Amino acid sequence: MSSGGHYVGLIDRYRARLPVTDETRIVSLSEGNTPLIELQNLSNDVARECQIYVKFEGLNPTGSFKDRGMTMAVTQALSEGAEAIICASTGNTSASAAAYAARAGMRSFVLIPDGKIALGKLAQAMIQGAVVMQIQGNFDDGMRIVKEMAHAAPVTIVNSINPYRLQGQKTAAFEIVDALGRAPDYHCIPVGNAGNISAYWTGFSEYAGVKPATAACAYCDTDCVFDFAPECDSRPVMLGYQAAGSAPFIAGSMVDDPETVATAIRIGRPQSWDLAWAASRESGGWFDSFTDAEILATQKFLASSEGLFCEPASAISVAGALADIASGKIPAGSIVTCTLTGHGLKDPDTAISQSAGGVIKVAAESDAVKRAILENL
Ligand SMILES: *Cc1c(COP(=O)(O)O)cnc(C)c1O
Repeated sequence: MSSGGHYVGLIDRYRARLPVTDETRIVSLSEGNTPLIELQNLSNDVARECQIYVKFEGLNPTGSFKDRGMTMAVTQALSEGAEAIICASTGNTSASAAAYAARAGMRSFVLIPDGKIALGKLAQAMIQGAVVMQIQGNFDDGMRIVKEMAHAAPVTIVNSINPYRLQGQKTAAFEIVDALGRAPDYHCIPVGNAGNISAYWTGFSEYAGVKPATAACAYCDTDCVFDFAPECDSRPVMLGYQAAGSAPFIAGSMVDDPETVATAIRIGRPQSWDLAWAASRESGGWFDSFTDAEILATQKFLASSEGLFCEPASAISVAGALADIASGKIPAGSIVTCTLTGHGLKDPDTAISQSAGGVIKVAAESDAVKRAILENL
């Protein structure tokens, strides 16, 4: 597949830095190439001294960054002759897996938690033809079972423990550097299973020509992407944010009953534990946590003040950036990028429930509508 100038997806765009050959049949939905949008309406003076950009990953084909990893993982699975893929998911991985499996003509099996899955994500997995198994447990239970299935059934795991997932996801870091013409000073990101923070660190490191001490690599030694000339001369400090009720990186150990409104990061046993710690330590970064109330307030701020509707888990990256700028941990004048991991339409229930009084009942008459306008100007 050749682009001829027309954007056809991130594997095509970053082909030289990804584990594909000219013969590989690429499974793509033209994912990636998402906008980097500067926040303009911050009320806090300190925040205004920084440049804060969001990478709006909700604009990927299935509405989350998972598509970046899935194009690579399903492309690889197909090239290995796999007939079926499987994942455990809080929702977005299953939506993405179902879509790319459909595209590739493969079967997909997804294990979702009992309740606590956003409606849009479930709808996607179902209509895209996945075999949806709702288990009586949480994401961590699903993950444990999926790992056992790798040996018990002919299925390829497409969770982020699959190194090809992280290879695809590292391209978001490339796009940020390409858009800014340099690396940001700080990168802020929600952390659940911790694959994405690890993938970004791999991407930022690769573009700076530095091999991370612990790399999430899908290459053999003879085909090392770190032999490329660097595209930029620095790497950002990596800041990972978790929901307070689901914060193993803050606790310093696994959490048994994770709970948060931000269902995409409701994970107590992150699979990329070591990679994420390496990213944090090597970059001089830190982890922090925020309450559900803080997460929802930031989601609402982004939607109502910037016109950016992301899902609750995504908003935590901006909550973290603003808090760390206010406290001075991120100094004034910094260039800060935040990943908005998924689209707000994924979870309409949460959006509606925190917009109480958002719909006014009005008689079907001009006078009544005029009165309502004047009362609400
Ligand atoms: C998957 C996901 C996350 C968490 O990413 P990890 O790689 O699991 O840390 C955050 N936000 C959204 C919307 C997601 O779908």
